[in-house]
Formats: sequence, C-alpha cells, structure tokens
Amino acid sequence: MFETAIAGSLPKPGWLSETQKLWPQWKLQGEELLQAKRDATLLWIKAQEDAGLDIVGDGEQARQHFVHGFVEQVDGIDFEHKVTMGIRDNRYDAQVPQVVGPLRLKGRVHAMEAQLARAHTKKKLKFTLPGPMTIVDTVADRYYGDKVKMAFAFAELLNQEALALQADGVDIIQFDEPAFNVYMQDAADWGVKALERAALGLTCTTAVHICYGYGIQANNDWKEKLGQEWRQYERVFPALAKSSIDQVSLECFHSHVPMDLMKLLDGKDVMVGVIDVASDVVETPEQVADTIGQALQFVPKNRLFPCTNCGLAPMSREVAEGKLRALAAGAALARSRYGGA
Ligand code: ZN
Repeated sequence: MFETAIAGSLPKPGWLSETQKLWPQWKLQGEELLQAKRDATLLWIKAQEDAGLDIVGDGEQARQHFVHGFVEQVDGIDFEHKVTMGIRDNRYDAQVPQVVGPLRLKGRVHAMEAQLARAHTKKKLKFTLPGPMTIVDTVADRYYGDKVKMAFAFAELLNQEALALQADGVDIIQFDEPAFNVYMQDAADWGVKALERAALGLTCTTAVHICYGYGIQANNDWKEKLGQEWRQYERVFPALAKSSIDQVSLECFHSHVPMDLMKLLDGKDVMVGVIDVASDVVETPEQVADTIGQALQFVPKNRLFPCTNCGLAPMSREVAEGKLRALAAGAALARSRYGGA
C-alpha cells in the first residue's frame, strides 16, 4: 500500500553538468561524459533506495532535458540549428530543434541507463519518456505541417523505444504530458489517442504524468494567473479514464487543484503529488501523510501511489534528497495511520 515513486527527474551532480538549470550544459565530453552519466545514474538509484522509495528510476541523469533527450536520437531533426520558440502556449521561450524530414529513430535511445539501472536495483523500476503531444510542443515543425500527424509519427517512435525498455526489464513506463494541462481540448480530442499509440502493445504498467511544470519562475508566474481553482484536469481526466493507460500522476500538494477531480480517474492508479517541487522547504512526514489522508477521500487505498508533484531536476541535491526521505517517511506514517481495514 502507498508505494512511493518520484515523477522522474533528479538534480544532476555538479561534476556532470551545470546545476539548478532546466537545460544544463554537460561538463564533459565523449567517453568521460558517458561514464559520468553512468555514475550519476547509479548514485541516484542508491539515494532513492536509501531514502526508502519503493519504485526507483534513473533520475534522467543521461539526458539534458526530458524532451530533448529523446529527440536527440531521432533522424529528421536538425538538432544543430535550434530556434527560439514560445512553448506551452507561449508561457516561456525555449531553444528548440527543428523537424526537417520524416522521423525515424537512429537506434536505441535509453538502453544504457535503463539496463544499468535494472542491473543495480531489485526494486520496481520506472522509466520516463516524453509524451507525443509535449514533444510536438517542444520542437519547431518545418516538415509535417500538421500537429496531429507529427504527434502520431513521434508516438510510433516512442512505442519502439518503450517496447525495448520493457524488454530491458522496466516495470513501469511513464509518458510525461505537461502539455495536456495547456491544450486541454486537443488533449481530449487526440492527445490521449496519441499517447495510447505510444503505449501500444506494452504489457508492463503504463503511466502518464501531467503537471503544472517544474518549479521555475515562468511556471510560478503562470500558476499565479490560473485563479483560485485549477480545473484543467477536469477536461482531460475523463478521456484518460477511458484510455488503456494504467496510472495517472498528478500535482496535488500546494496546488489549487480541487482534490475531488481525482474521482474522475475511477479505475486508474493515481500517483498523488505529495511533494512540492516549487519550494525548497522540505515537507514533514506529517504533511505528506495528511495529503495522503485527504486524497483517500477520492482514491481507494490500493490505487494511491504517493509521488512528487513533478521532477526535481532544477533543485539542489540536498533539498531533493530531503524531499525523497520526506516522501518515504510520510508514506510509512500514512500506512500506520490508514493501513487498517
Ligand atoms: Zn511534471
């Protein structure tokens, strides 16, 4: 009961890349960089286990950014000539690569870190990939001229990598779709279908993470404008409840999401965000257990997975480690509080 996991990313050590940045520059090259990525992956597997998490991940140590890590391994993309583009409905500008031809995988994308993580933990292993709609929102299209067509092209490639990750021994494959909270109608109309295409044929557990973004200034400013009640999930959850995806990861603690929206996910596992990623204040186990207790009004015990609101990539290592421990300790407290029949 209350198996804990993180949304996905963790801070990169200072010897691997710049720190506390969303698009950090690597500090090494070639074989040295590869070795440093491996070392950082192992370090975080150990740290998650030591903190007491039940489900662990690679912490996204081998990719610069959660979308670009995948896109870099796709043919038909000009990664050298990035352009500035407003993303997430122009919430902030990003340097994005351009799609210039038909999309095709160059080969495996995440084999190294998935196989390494699998070889070094007996815990359940979760692996994250960007969702098709979020990828489409993070690249400049110079070829397809049709968002939906391009999303399904990416979904096919994601599916190839996801099936390979499953063969590597990954237990849970999670697609990150923050764009679902921005383009709610598109998400309901075709985003969920593209996601299902990406997950086609998977027999491992499948998940989708939908959040209000990393704790960066542009996101914090955007959240200020969303008003007293954040009801974005209300438009997407019904489509997800009918989908083939097993688990949904959502933002909860310190957000203005009405908790009763979780009821719309009846029949799904719910990864409830009990750790705020926009604040350096480390939650107490009591706060975590309280949030779990509140969510229990809307999600059955056996379907509730305490999680972080989003990735921890832009935080300091010290704060992130504190938050991992708070997550595990809070879930343990919740088990003793609410574990009885
Ligand atoms: Zn997120």
